[in-house]
Amino acid sequence: MNSDTSSLLRRRERLLGSAYSLFYREPLHLVRGEGVWLYDANGRKYLDMYNNVPHVGHCHPRVVDAMCEQAALLNTHTRYLHENVLDYAERLTAKLPDELDTAMFCCTGSEANELALRIARSVTGARGVIVTDYAYHGNSQATWEISPEDCSDEHRPDYVVTVPSPDRYRGRYRGDDAGERYAAHVQDAVDVLAERGIKPAAFIIDTIVSSGGVVVPPVGYLSKAAATVRQAGGLFIADEVQPGFGRTGKNFWGFAAEPVVPDIVTMGKPMGNGHPVAGVVTRADLAAALAGKGGYFNTFGGNPVSCAAALAVLDIIEEEALQQNALRVGQHIADALRKLSDRHECIGDVRGNGLFIALELVTDREQRLPAAALASATVNDLRDRGVLTGSIGPDNNVLKLRPPMVLSRADADFMLGVLDRSLEAGTDM
Ligand code: PMP
Repeated sequence: MNSDTSSLLRRRERLLGSAYSLFYREPLHLVRGEGVWLYDANGRKYLDMYNNVPHVGHCHPRVVDAMCEQAALLNTHTRYLHENVLDYAERLTAKLPDELDTAMFCCTGSEANELALRIARSVTGARGVIVTDYAYHGNSQATWEISPEDCSDEHRPDYVVTVPSPDRYRGRYRGDDAGERYAAHVQDAVDVLAERGIKPAAFIIDTIVSSGGVVVPPVGYLSKAAATVRQAGGLFIADEVQPGFGRTGKNFWGFAAEPVVPDIVTMGKPMGNGHPVAGVVTRADLAAALAGKGGYFNTFGGNPVSCAAALAVLDIIEEEALQQNALRVGQHIADALRKLSDRHECIGDVRGNGLFIALELVTDREQRLPAAALASATVNDLRDRGVLTGSIGPDNNVLKLRPPMVLSRADADFMLGVLDRSLEAGTDM
């Protein structure tokens, strides 16, 4: 570690405290980004296979220009009339099923989920929330409480009940009926809430369960889970903070893999390409539940600069055909990873949709035992070789490949070559 890095580390520890964490054995000091590449303070470049926030590429000039132009003209809030928030609401709702016609804006995914909870509770008069068992939905008090990844069993309030993440690789149901069987746990959760005298306000799920290890919900799961919670009087909230905006390739939203329309869709991360933009889209009758209860205002949410950035992101997704790119390049990566598994015993599973891919590492293919140490060593080794990824999942043995959507086939091939060499070396780690 050079002296600049050490001094930044010391300052950071002193100024930001111990709750913050850093990636990599050798932390990175990044100073510039362009497209799928990030540059450190020494000018070394890294292929970004991890970050989904710079959706249309780091520092895309059109997003930068749109923000600069609007920032130089006016930036206020939604208590004045302005076209940008309406233009964006129109464009965004056009990307969703017809019934989802009302948009509300905020700045982070946590705020979006917090607002979704408020709507669900106002509409249903209930407070129970059903979540998957390793979910992450945010950092505020209410969203932390519904995030079992961070909020452990002993801190979980009585109104939160978990259901198993619908994992077909290492989870309890692996056959063709996995969707049906996993979804049956939503009814169990409703029953547990009932024993506590609590009714469900909502079932919320990250529609590609990222923190559960990039789990793709099996066929039928989302539809049946939604029907079950609705039957019990609750709403279905699709958290699209990660899968949304075309990442999954075939569809613009993760939930669209199933014939189901959520009651509330929450979104964030990629919306502003790094500028903090997030939102909730729901039906007008559901949003109206807040009208008599203090209404809704968010000082920064939906401001003209944020909406200019978000409009530019939508333009670029469409004009550069990035959803189609995610489908094509994602499929190429998944196929190549499956081929690599012939050479590397440690590859247990390759799954995902579009440019949201999991590479699950195991110590034993037969028993599917998690290779957490190898995953951590591989993530660090890839970083040293110029490719940025991360590991995730309850056992931290899943490599998460979730790059900016402008990743080309050539970029993917570069990553695959580096990964092959790293896994080759990893057998001796
Ligand atoms: N939902 C999901 C599925 C997320 O992955 C995240 C962030 N990792 C959030 C919500 C919270 O978003 P934010 O960090 O913008 O508050």
